[in-house]
Amino acid sequence: MAPALPTHARVVVVGGGIIGTSVAYHLAKMGWTDVVLLERHRLTAGTTWHAAGLIVTFGSTSETSTEMRKYTRDLYARLEAETDVPTGFKAVGFIELATEPDRLEEYRRVSTFNRYCGIDVHEISAAEVKELFPLAHTEDILAGFYVKEDGRANPVDVTMSLARGARMAGATVIEGVSVTGVTQHRGAVTGVVTDQGTITAEYVVNCAGMWARQLGAKSGVNIPLQSAEHYYLITDAIPELSAACPVIEDPASHGYFREEVGGLMIGLFEPVCAPWKVGGVPEDFSFGEIQPDWDRMGPYVEKAMSRVPIAFDTGVKKFFCGPESFTPDLQPIVGEAPELKNYFVAAGLNSIGIITGGGLGRVLAHWIVNGRPDIDVTGFNIDRLHVYQANPEYRRTRTVESLGMVYQCHYPTRSMLTARGAKRSALHDRLAARGAYFKDVSGWEGPDWYAPPGVEPKVERLSWGRQSWFPYWQAEHEAARTGVILMDMSFMAKFAVQGSDAGRLLNRISANDVDGAAGIITYTQWLNEGGTLEADLTVTKLADERYWVVASDTAHRHAETWMRRHFADAHAFVTDVTSGYAQINVQGPRSRELLQAVTTEDLANEAFPFRTAREIDVGFARVLCVRITYLGELGYELYIPSEQAVHVYERLVDAGERVGMRHAGLKALASLRMEKGYRDYGHDIDNTDSVLEAGLGFAVALDKPGGFIGRDAVLAKKAEGPLRRRIVQILVKDPEPMMYHAEVVRRDGVAVGYIRAASYGFTLGGAVGLAMVDAGDRPADAKWIESGTWDVEIAGQRYPALASIRPLYDPQMLRIKT
Ligand SMILES: Cc1cc2nc3c(=O)[nH]c(=O)nc-3n(C[C@H](O)[C@H](O)[C@H](O)COP(=O)(O)OP(=O)(O)OC[C@H]3O[C@@H](n4cnc5c(N)ncnc54)[C@H](O)[C@@H]3O)c2cc1C
Repeated sequence: MAPALPTHARVVVVGGGIIGTSVAYHLAKMGWTDVVLLERHRLTAGTTWHAAGLIVTFGSTSETSTEMRKYTRDLYARLEAETDVPTGFKAVGFIELATEPDRLEEYRRVSTFNRYCGIDVHEISAAEVKELFPLAHTEDILAGFYVKEDGRANPVDVTMSLARGARMAGATVIEGVSVTGVTQHRGAVTGVVTDQGTITAEYVVNCAGMWARQLGAKSGVNIPLQSAEHYYLITDAIPELSAACPVIEDPASHGYFREEVGGLMIGLFEPVCAPWKVGGVPEDFSFGEIQPDWDRMGPYVEKAMSRVPIAFDTGVKKFFCGPESFTPDLQPIVGEAPELKNYFVAAGLNSIGIITGGGLGRVLAHWIVNGRPDIDVTGFNIDRLHVYQANPEYRRTRTVESLGMVYQCHYPTRSMLTARGAKRSALHDRLAARGAYFKDVSGWEGPDWYAPPGVEPKVERLSWGRQSWFPYWQAEHEAARTGVILMDMSFMAKFAVQGSDAGRLLNRISANDVDGAAGIITYTQWLNEGGTLEADLTVTKLADERYWVVASDTAHRHAETWMRRHFADAHAFVTDVTSGYAQINVQGPRSRELLQAVTTEDLANEAFPFRTAREIDVGFARVLCVRITYLGELGYELYIPSEQAVHVYERLVDAGERVGMRHAGLKALASLRMEKGYRDYGHDIDNTDSVLEAGLGFAVALDKPGGFIGRDAVLAKKAEGPLRRRIVQILVKDPEPMMYHAEVVRRDGVAVGYIRAASYGFTLGGAVGLAMVDAGDRPADAKWIESGTWDVEIAGQRYPALASIRPLYDPQMLRIKT
């Protein structure tokens, strides 16, 4: 008999696909047994029932994603022993094929990183591929990347096994109940409304797959995912095909291949896909199929079949099309909704819901039970997304690109190309006229680099090496070090924080002291109770009761939510003024000279020292001018009412003619800040790092009156003794190779970490990055660093490197403070 609908549960999980059952399973295993999972139809009825079940740990340069995949594979391998319900997991192996030099480079880079994460991946020859999968055409193969322990599972069986495990641990799973809404009070969840009654609850977890967006919208929660057609076919039986053959993925042919009941399954990721039901997914689409579009898919099927040519001579038993959810950046949508406390989401799996499902359930359960996640979630946190991304036109447009990206070569400098032009700064057209090449910066058009006069600002050809714009980038970098540059940074998140409690509360959430004298900018982190990082930003005290908070574009909603949740009912009010103010940064040794030419304010060092903030005149405009830098030179940031931005820009450009001012883009900002070792939250530091390990102890005011959130944890960390892991700067001695992310760092031949973010240091003379390194049972101090011999592995080659705790560029800050 089906269990009765309870009137109360601590957690209600909505959706009985792989994700919902995994969340319920892990919550119950952690001891939270008052959990109810509600499935509208029957378990697996949404997308899960028809997934191909590839269990592939290879392929990601995200530690989070790789760890989730590994955990999932292990869970599916051991779950049957626990629940008596098989998962169908078979470790038949997996091979990724490289048929083009750029893909070969990508997979070599990925495999180094994956090996570091504990995945036993081997580069194999075309002949070895042939041996493992004799029916494959292998002439054009440059290499295969083989993981023996990977394979396939049966998604329906896995879901049933997880549901059984959840029930065995104490959770309740109820089918045939539809959640129609969520009740809330003062910004927090209080329960769910179903077609069969109401359940009061402390937490709701929306795991409603492709329906998650619609369900979220009913509660004002933004979940901008979109379903799209997703295909595979299964051929008639092929006697020569062994069930023990590994799964093969051949992105250049748009296909993956595995045995399925004696036939060949060919799955497809086409470069140009078809979004499905942009207006809304029908609620009764259970165990549903989409009519396949043979005409559209024909060319891709043909290309894929050419990898296993016997498929051309075999009948097709089933050509299947089902919907899968995709997101604007191909990352899942996970975490607590910024709009509603205790409303969690795990949806938008971008075709890897089965292989990440186990890990994702574990992560979410930890997040809910402990109040914060135990892995880096900056890449997939729901609060990175913005409401405009749920617009039908945005979803229809962007989904075509995001699904298409799955099987493309993942060039690190590639920007999203669709749904562009959504947000433009007041300076956009002027910068375009100056030759800006724009990239997508959280939806804003952000200048990445500038083409010189007569050159069209476009990417000629993506690559892993130096591209055509490399010299323009270098010139911008050098201008910042020797002259002066202008950058449009209007996409930065800006908040006016006001009220009689504003200073006290900002100081409470800031590790640094941000409430001293008025007219001072302070660099600070916001910590959670565990002493790890929630945000990395600046707070400027404009006056008593008036503050100016600036965070990076990706931290926009996280920072805003953090403030709102902590300010609660106090007399402290957060106003998002991002759209109201343009931001122009003027940086470089000649920046004072330039700025002095457009204002009557005395900018001399004594009159306007480092970390000062003041309203100044520029022509007819009033501008908040802050003397601060994120690239390691004398410099100023100007916050200008949007309607006066063009005027101020024109004054700067006029005066700039006389001092050789150059426009510079985000590439230059990245290389300049990286030489100086400045951190970037979500790239080289994240929510798992303690502020001390991040090397930011200098910005922690341990003794300030009133303390701050996370202080006890920082003290406890200090009491543990010397740090065992910490962020270091890594410089490659050979000027040739380029680093981007995930390159493995070795000390005395032992892998101790990987590059979290990197750029090219034109002043230092080589690729430079930041890595979190682990010294094991030794102190990760200067002695340990200096006594070691360091190298970095880039695309399978090892390069000698320099490691340093102190920034390699201007460690004494001589260039900034005078
Ligand atoms: C053709 C194809 C092949 C794939 N192959 C693979 C693969 O090889 N490997 C891999 O990792 N991934 C694969 N995927 C992706 C994978 O299937 C999905 O990522 C995964 O199934 C998503 O799981 P989910 O739990 O988020 O969603 P779903 O399985 O859709 O579950 C959501 C559930 O919520 C229920 N629901 C919705 N609204 C409500 C409501 N209001 N009240 C109650 N219940 C509700 C639905 O009925 C549904 O059962 C494939 C997808 C497709 C389409």
